[in-house]
Amino acid sequence: MPVFDDPAFDNHEQVVFCEDADSGLRAIIAIHNTSRGPALGGARMWSYADSAAALTDVLRLSRGMTYKSALAGLPFGGGKAVILGDPNRDKSPALFRSLGRYVASLGGRYTIAEDVGIDVADIEQVATETQHVAGVAAGGSGDPSPATAYGVFVGIRAAVKHRLGADRISGDKLTGVSVAIQGAGHVGYELARHLAGAGADVQIADVDPDRVRRAQDELGATPVSVERFLEADVDVLAPCALGGLLNDDTIPKIRAPIVAGAANNQLAEARHGQMLRARGILYAPDYLINAGGIINISYEGPGYDRSRAFSHVALIHDTLLSIFQRADAAGIPTSKAADQLAEERFTHPNPNPAKAA
Ligand code: NAD
Repeated sequence: MPVFDDPAFDNHEQVVFCEDADSGLRAIIAIHNTSRGPALGGARMWSYADSAAALTDVLRLSRGMTYKSALAGLPFGGGKAVILGDPNRDKSPALFRSLGRYVASLGGRYTIAEDVGIDVADIEQVATETQHVAGVAAGGSGDPSPATAYGVFVGIRAAVKHRLGADRISGDKLTGVSVAIQGAGHVGYELARHLAGAGADVQIADVDPDRVRRAQDELGATPVSVERFLEADVDVLAPCALGGLLNDDTIPKIRAPIVAGAANNQLAEARHGQMLRARGILYAPDYLINAGGIINISYEGPGYDRSRAFSHVALIHDTLLSIFQRADAAGIPTSKAADQLAEERFTHPNPNPAKAA
C-alpha cells in the first residue's frame, strides 16, 4: 500500500499498522504532528471499502486534529486511529484491549478518545491496557458532544454577526434567524436545543425519522427532507452528519449565505473553500467551529470544572470572527485563513524524532 504517495500524506510523523489475528483487530494509528504536545484524537470504526481507504481517512483526520488543537490554543498535536470493521458486528472486548496495547506501545505520543462508531464501553476496554485515554472513559470529562454543540452554537452567532449584520442578534437571542441542521444526532440535537432556546427557527434533516420526530416534538423544529437540505431557504446550513458534502455538485445548489456546522472534513477538497467564497457563502472552517469537544477534554482530570471548560469553548466565537476578518482583509477563503493561522502555531515541516536523536 503506498503510504508516502497517498494524497493525504502530509509529512506525518508516524503511522502504525496494528494487526492481531487473535482478536481480529485491524487498525491504523496516524500521528501527524507533536510539536505542540502529544497527539490527541478519537478512534473511528468503519466498514472501509479497503485498507487504502482507511489509510487515507486516518491521514486526513489526524492532520485535521493538528490544525484543530493549534487553533483552539491547546497543548496537543494531531493523531487519530481507524479500526477496519463493522461497528455493529465486529466489536469485542479483546479487540479493544488489543488496540489499547498498541496505544500503550506509543508511550504517550498518542492519546485515544471516542469518534464515530465507538462508544464508552469500547474506550473502557482500551483503558484497561493504557492510561493514554481521554474523553469518555471513567473519570474523564464525559461525552464531548454537548461541548461541541455549544461551540457550534456560539460559532453560528459569530457567522450571523459577520455575514448578516450585528442587528440580526439581540443580546443572546437569534430571533428571526433560520438554521437548517443536517443530522439530529449527538451534536445536531444539542445544537438544535441551543438554537431553539435562543428563538431561532430550526429545521432538521435526518435519515432516521425517529430523530426528526423527537426534534419536532421536543424542540418545535420543522422537518426538512434529506434530499433538499442543501437547497433549504435559510440563513444558516449546519452540517452535523457527514463529511465531504461541500463539492462541485452541491455548492451551486446552496441558497443559504452561511455554512456553519459540526461535521468533520466538510470541504471535499481544499479548493471548495474558494468556490464557496466566490458564491458569497460564508464558511465557518469545520475544525475551528467543532473544537468544543476537544477543548472540553483538555480540562479533564481530578479538578474538572465544566463551566471553566465551556468558557474556553465560548472563545470559538471570537476566533471565528478574527478568521473571517483575516480572510476578508487578504481576499482569501476562510478555510485558507484558518489553515494559515493554525500553521503559524505549530512547527511544519515536522521535526523528525529519529533524525533529531
Ligand atoms: P451521530 O452519529 O450521533 O449523529 C449523526 C446523525 O446524522 C445521525 O442522527 C444520523 O442518522 C444522521 N445522518 C447520517 N446520514 C445522514 C444524511 N445523509 N442526512 C441527514 N442525516 C444523516 O454523530 P455526532 O457525534 O452527532 O457527530 C456529527 C458530526 O460531527 C460527525 O461528522 C462528527 O465527526 C462531527 N464531530 C462530532 C464531535 C462530537 O463531539 N461528537 C466533535 C467534532 C466533530
